[in-house]
Amino acid sequence: MEIKQGTPVSPGVAIGPALVLDTEWFRIPQRYVEPDRVHEELERVNQALAAAAREAKENQQAVSDKLGKQYGAIFGAHIQLIEDPSLAAEIEKQILEEGFAAEYAVSRIMRAHAKALESIQHGYFAARAADLFDIEKCLLRNLLGHRREQIQHLKQAVVVLAHDLTPSETAVLDPKMVHAFATEAGGRASHTAIMAGALEIPAVVGLGKFVTDVSGGDMVIVDGHRGLLILDPDKEMLERYEKTRSSFRIFEDRLGELRELPAVTRDGTNIQLLGNIEFPAEATHCLDRGAAGVGLYRTEFLYLGKTSDPTEADHLDAYLTVLRTLGKCKPVVIRTLDLGADKFSTSAEVVEHERNPFLGLRSIRLCLRNLTLFKTQMRAILRASAFGDVRIMFPMVSTLLELRQAKMILAEVKEDLDEEGIAYNPKLPVGTMIEVPSAAIMADQLAREVNFFSIGTNDLVQYTLAADRTNETVASLYNPADPAVLRLIDMVVGAARKHGIEVNLCGEMSGEPIYTMLLLGMGLRQLSVTPHNIPEIKKIIRSVSMEEATHVAEEARRLETARDVNNYLREQTRRILPEVVG
Ligand code: PEP
Ligand code: MG
Repeated sequence: MEIKQGTPVSPGVAIGPALVLDTEWFRIPQRYVEPDRVHEELERVNQALAAAAREAKENQQAVSDKLGKQYGAIFGAHIQLIEDPSLAAEIEKQILEEGFAAEYAVSRIMRAHAKALESIQHGYFAARAADLFDIEKCLLRNLLGHRREQIQHLKQAVVVLAHDLTPSETAVLDPKMVHAFATEAGGRASHTAIMAGALEIPAVVGLGKFVTDVSGGDMVIVDGHRGLLILDPDKEMLERYEKTRSSFRIFEDRLGELRELPAVTRDGTNIQLLGNIEFPAEATHCLDRGAAGVGLYRTEFLYLGKTSDPTEADHLDAYLTVLRTLGKCKPVVIRTLDLGADKFSTSAEVVEHERNPFLGLRSIRLCLRNLTLFKTQMRAILRASAFGDVRIMFPMVSTLLELRQAKMILAEVKEDLDEEGIAYNPKLPVGTMIEVPSAAIMADQLAREVNFFSIGTNDLVQYTLAADRTNETVASLYNPADPAVLRLIDMVVGAARKHGIEVNLCGEMSGEPIYTMLLLGMGLRQLSVTPHNIPEIKKIIRSVSMEEATHVAEEARRLETARDVNNYLREQTRRILPEVVG
């Protein structure tokens, strides 16, 4: 048994067989073959080895011609390994004696050797391990060929294990079949993590190297509460987790009873608890969990899997679906496109390769350079506003000028609609995300020009601490409780109050129970969270008084480091609701 610690990003516990995906998304099945098919499997291995050797020879020739013989020699080493009779013999032994399918036998042998080399912890051997993985990939490619299995069409429930998953890869996972996933890479506020929350799939990311230690079909446990991946669990651990899984369900059921109750503190302060959504269908999740509306609709997900940009009708259709589900009175904050950096790239993304995409032409910057794209979406948002309480919000605003430009374009689109006689809400509320430190610092100015703020801590933390939200190696720096971030939130809430505008917090921070008291104490009265977090956050809101929350915020402000703040908040939350702190 091996226990790996990572970052929990979507709660829940799953126990099941692993489906290991390598970087090329091969599925490596643990499949036994019937005794009468053993010879067929041996033949397949021979053919795959021959094809891999041919490929390596072609590569050797091509690279030698291009770069010189010394570079071609890299493939010479591959050829030696592939043609080594002991390799074929080892694989054959697994098929003959264990009854394994060819793919599984290849994967097992190659990974065992690669792991042995990796464990020597010397640059030379590590590089040889990489060669073995390369050869494994080549053999699998030849073995699986057209039989490469589609992750979208699984027939058996699994736990997906991978080095990393992109948001679009995550989006196609079927929660009925994928009971959890765990990745080596990734951070707390990555869009992959957000997607896991949206799909309600328990997930742990940033676990560090483990993929090579697992084979498809091995039993694993993913603990999305504590951020654990348990490989090959023993009997005692399995029993313990069976119990945890059922007590989590009981806890969830109990929380479900809060659905109809208001999000109000013990001393009567009302908090507006809203949902963050990525897909129109999630509006139902919001309703099921008792959300007061949608606080953040991330519309870039409309681009998912599309080869061309969504049309005005596509946008409108999606927005009207949300409105139909939520009804006329619940607010729906539609955020304009926030493409770029770790989000999806599409034909709309006219960005050449950028050295630093997180600081590049993304989000509102991209829209302001691509007015057709921007106006198409604005028209749809305005048209939808005739059917419900729609609000528009701009992402990644970093200067006042940018906000003014966006508002000017909105005014132009309104004029166009007027001329065409198309209905919309002329008083459509306009808001801006505060997720860049410059915007937080200038919140006082920005507040004069918008109807509401929404604090995006996912990016605010990233840009304040210069720590990539998707990078597990800087995850210890990436902390919403950092005193620098808290000061910025204080500035934004203060500016909003002074100018009498609403302020929401829609980053992942608002869905983490340990921050609820702090945020209420800092003056927030709106929180927008992943729908499945709503009951838990509501439970905390209903368990505290504003006096307690204000005290907690005051104490937290006095602390000097993020770690101190987190420890303090964890203690305070444990006092109120021990179940959520674990
Ligand atoms: C944020 O940055 O906090 C936010 C809510 O936006 P996104 O996660 O979509 O970047
Ligand atoms: Mg953001």
